[in-house]
Amino acid sequence: MRSGSTALLVDAGISLKELTRRLMMVGVEVTSLDALVLSHEHGDHVRGAIALCRRLKLPVYASPATSRGTGLVPALSRENVIDFTADVPFAIGCLEVLPFSVPHDAEETFGFKVSDGRVRAGLATDLGSLTLDVLQGLSGCDAVVLESNHDEVMLLEGPYPLFLKRRVNGPHGHLSNADAAELVRCIKHGDMKHIVLAHLSRTNNTPELPLKATRGALGAGGAHIQVSLGWQDRPGDMICF
Ligand SMILES: [Zn+2]
Ligand SMILES: [Zn+2]
Repeated sequence: MRSGSTALLVDAGISLKELTRRLMMVGVEVTSLDALVLSHEHGDHVRGAIALCRRLKLPVYASPATSRGTGLVPALSRENVIDFTADVPFAIGCLEVLPFSVPHDAEETFGFKVSDGRVRAGLATDLGSLTLDVLQGLSGCDAVVLESNHDEVMLLEGPYPLFLKRRVNGPHGHLSNADAAELVRCIKHGDMKHIVLAHLSRTNNTPELPLKATRGALGAGGAHIQVSLGWQDRPGDMICF
């Protein structure tokens, strides 16, 4: 996310080389980043974090549990690792970041509402169910990046072992297309402009199903809202306000 001269990255699950390449595809120099913010310690969100922050001397904002789980200290110097806790906003340049708790099976997991005072963007990509914290955290946003992980029937009938099906489908797993659509139904409002459906399962979803579910939840009243997909292997289009 970027506003004015401030740019921050939420999560770094890919290598520095790949991150550099993907940012270039949307016209962003990796060296223009001011900070990394981590949602939780799972590998698909932190794999590239230490290399990125070490190489670019970037500060990283993380909860103490995420910091421990990722081994940020001593891999990075203590002064470059900045703690945050749920519901306490912090500033990075001209951006204000509000972390909020989401239910997921990591030590602690957060969604974020990021604002420059003009535009508010919400992000929640690993969550198993809808909670009041999630609804409040994503309320009033102009743009939302939201997990729409799986189709429940595809998951149930698919190749995952039973324990993994239960984990993904559980209240601390990942959000189904139907749950994401329900969340969208709750948070949609007249000024919302964009929804990006993200963290799609390659095995238990198709590109069409999450779009259809969310479009259905938006209905005619939400026809003005652009809905797009976040891909695992390439950047999406830049969303500008
Ligand atoms: Zn996770
Ligand atoms: Zn994840």
